[in-house]
Amino acid sequence: MSADSRSDVAGLRLGILARLADAVALAETLREVGERGVAVIGRNDIDHAAVWLLGVGGEQVVESAADEPPDGAKAVHAPDAHALALVAARSGRHEVHPLAGSPAGLAELHAQPVVEPGQENPSLVLVVGVRERLGASAPFADYLQVAAALLGAGFSGRRELAVVRQQSETLRELDTAKSAFLANVSHELRTPLALIAAPLDDLLAAPSEEVPGVVRERLAALRGNVVRLTRTVDAMLDFSRMEAGRITPNLVELDIASLLASLAASFGPAIERAGLRFDTDLQELPRPALLDRDIVERIVLNLLSNALKYTPHGSVELSLHPVRGGFEVSVADTGIGIAVRDQEKVFARFEQLPRHEQARSTEGAGIGLAMVRELSRLLGGDVDLRSAPGRGSTFTVRLPYLPPQARHQIESARSITPRSAEAFLADVEAWEAAREMGPVRSPGPSGPRPRLLVVEDSADLARYLAEVLGDDYEVELAGDGLQALASVRSRRPDAVLSDVMMPGLDGFQLVDEIRGDPALRDLPVLLLSARAGLDATTEGLERGADDYLVKPFDVAELRARLASNILRAAERGAEAAWRRAVLSSLHEAVVLREPEGLVTELNAAFTRLFGWTIEDGPFTPPYPWWPDPAEEPDWVERLETAMQGLAQRGALEADFPMRHRDGHTVWVRAASGTVEIPGRGRRAVLSTFWDVSREHAAQERRQEAARITADFASADALDHIVGIAVDGLHALFNGDSTVQVAGLGMVQTFTASGPVEVDLLPLAIAQRLSGDGSDEPTPDEPVDGILLVPPSAASGTRAWVQFSRPRLVSTDEQIVADMLAQAFALAVDRVLAVGELADKQANLEKAIESHRLIGQAVGVLVERHRLTPGQAFQQLRHASQDRNVRLREIAQRVLETGLDPADA
Ligand code: ADP
Repeated sequence: MSADSRSDVAGLRLGILARLADAVALAETLREVGERGVAVIGRNDIDHAAVWLLGVGGEQVVESAADEPPDGAKAVHAPDAHALALVAARSGRHEVHPLAGSPAGLAELHAQPVVEPGQENPSLVLVVGVRERLGASAPFADYLQVAAALLGAGFSGRRELAVVRQQSETLRELDTAKSAFLANVSHELRTPLALIAAPLDDLLAAPSEEVPGVVRERLAALRGNVVRLTRTVDAMLDFSRMEAGRITPNLVELDIASLLASLAASFGPAIERAGLRFDTDLQELPRPALLDRDIVERIVLNLLSNALKYTPHGSVELSLHPVRGGFEVSVADTGIGIAVRDQEKVFARFEQLPRHEQARSTEGAGIGLAMVRELSRLLGGDVDLRSAPGRGSTFTVRLPYLPPQARHQIESARSITPRSAEAFLADVEAWEAAREMGPVRSPGPSGPRPRLLVVEDSADLARYLAEVLGDDYEVELAGDGLQALASVRSRRPDAVLSDVMMPGLDGFQLVDEIRGDPALRDLPVLLLSARAGLDATTEGLERGADDYLVKPFDVAELRARLASNILRAAERGAEAAWRRAVLSSLHEAVVLREPEGLVTELNAAFTRLFGWTIEDGPFTPPYPWWPDPAEEPDWVERLETAMQGLAQRGALEADFPMRHRDGHTVWVRAASGTVEIPGRGRRAVLSTFWDVSREHAAQERRQEAARITADFASADALDHIVGIAVDGLHALFNGDSTVQVAGLGMVQTFTASGPVEVDLLPLAIAQRLSGDGSDEPTPDEPVDGILLVPPSAASGTRAWVQFSRPRLVSTDEQIVADMLAQAFALAVDRVLAVGELADKQANLEKAIESHRLIGQAVGVLVERHRLTPGQAFQQLRHASQDRNVRLREIAQRVLETGLDPADA
């Protein structure tokens, strides 16, 4: 091949590729991409003699009239081409297959996979047959690759276009179907509505004997709602007709300024009643306009009623100005305004912005402004909005004097359903009524009826509910959730029946608030919603409502559900009262709490034990009856661990030192367990406490007694034994002790104040010690002291502990006393039994001498520190123990130095 012919070939290939790009770009369908592509590639008869576009399975996908060359090469090598396509589809690469001795004169077949952008696998394979051997040489391979890429791009472009077309087609069909449906439904509704309205009118016109006042009132309310429903249906109908392009303006010559003036006259007072200023600025127009009166009225009234609806205070202005070729009507308000990002949205049909708290009403279907725009356009004009949130909005409608239709006016036109200012005003009145609706009582038979709070922002529906339920309930009305919440908090009703969609606090939020308040938690709440469907119901119930009804509801069903919910709540209340009664009858202190810790119930025994009542709550851990965390951190920690352990183990029993409200320690045995609350799917923890303070005191007393006994056993001198007895008995029984030692034919008595001659003892004590005049202590009568007499009555060694005030002596105390009396007598006998008589006497004298010293020291301390002799003795003893010095020596030092025992 010469250089010249090579550049010819390159030029040809480039030309082919350029045309291929054009061809696929212009193709409308996938098939066209294939056909045009193959036709263009087929024009390259220098490189190849046959072109196939095959599927990845090797099958033929495109037949093109132009691709069959005269020599029949394609027919001859079709099987080879199909086989090679399979190979290339699998490898994903350019493949070459040599053809030796081809009857059609082809030297090779080349296959190039066609991969669409964004895809990994080829969707088709381009195969060509060439007359010369080219092998995998670069220029031709590149050419084929580019051709395949162009085809791939073409296919993918068409495919996307097809999807988009299909989608918009579906949307359009849906839209048409929706409009048609709206139109049909509206038509269907109008007939029955008319059939309801007519007889109602007759009844209302009937003389008062035939229709009594009460019935007449209800009929009037019914009539009002029929009118409202008719208006909504008309609006829907007009809207769907407008969408379907079936409204033709009924053009007449109009004096716009006077038309607007009359609208202002009828609508203005409503605006002023709402506390707003109403201004008009209506300039005369230079010429009359040829327009549709109903349409212009509808546009202006829509704008005026929106202005009133969304303006809490300030003013509304209606103005008219001539502009070039027409005029502008503006409605400006100082209301809540519309954010820039929402300004286009408000003109879309069914579009409503999120409810605004300050709006006068939440009624409306969101088609008002869409109508305004469509109707303005129908008259050859448009509407425009300028607004800023919080500052107000101005809607301006610009219309020509002559709408486009005027040029080919059709007779007997059908315009929109006329809708008067009165109709709009009826709506306004309904909002006003809804806003003014405070808690009102329904009339009805007197006598106690359950109290029902109805929460509903539509005044009509609220009134209706109050009427139909008034016989069975004392009905109160609230216009929104916040009002309702205030009402239930100030006076709890027996049930709440609430709408879901409300401004401010909606029905779900109201339920949340009620469930979160311990005092209201059990209050039955029924939700009433326009949202039908299982999902909505489930959501309502999951959010904690007791029941969920869908509007429109059947009054009989509503009555039944209300009654059953109130009954159930009453049963729950009775159950709680019963539970309380059972708990309070128990002797054990019982507390019932939620697994998270909040105490829900505690009984009278609990109050007796710890001093707290449920009204002192709410109680959460750490509870005030737990030990003081500052003083007993270990116990508090143990209690917390026990509480956590309870969650895993389900039961627990242990002793804890708890705290009475007045601060004193109460040892309790606590048993806790988790219980299922039947029917409520909740668990609770039940804890029972027994006062084990006595048990604990007894145990401590026994330990103390054991220690004193051991001291007696190890003491080797009489003065030591006497010291142990005087002091030990004082500490153990909390009283002043007098001990009497008998032996060697003589009797000696000692008190904390020293040795005392028996004759000088107070008579009562002397009698007790001698065993005279003392009765066996009775366990359930308070006594003024306790006598310790060893069982071997022969011994005169004994003791008397005088209580400061008479008290009960427990059996346990008596046993300990007997045990100590025995140990005391044995110790005295043991010491006196050793040694010679002389030693014994010396021992006794020493004891007497020691106690004389001790008694003197006690006397000094009593005088100086205003202590009782018992307390003074304790101080001496502690000093002796702490410093390991004999008691008598401490006493001696106190006497010598005048210092306190600890320092002496
Ligand atoms: P609707 O039936 O909800 O009133 P419209 O189509 O009349 O429907 O209005 C659409 C939305 O535009 C309203 O829900 C409201 O949020 C907003 N809107 C309309 N007019 C005003 C206004 N004058 N001021 C503030 N917001 C307005």
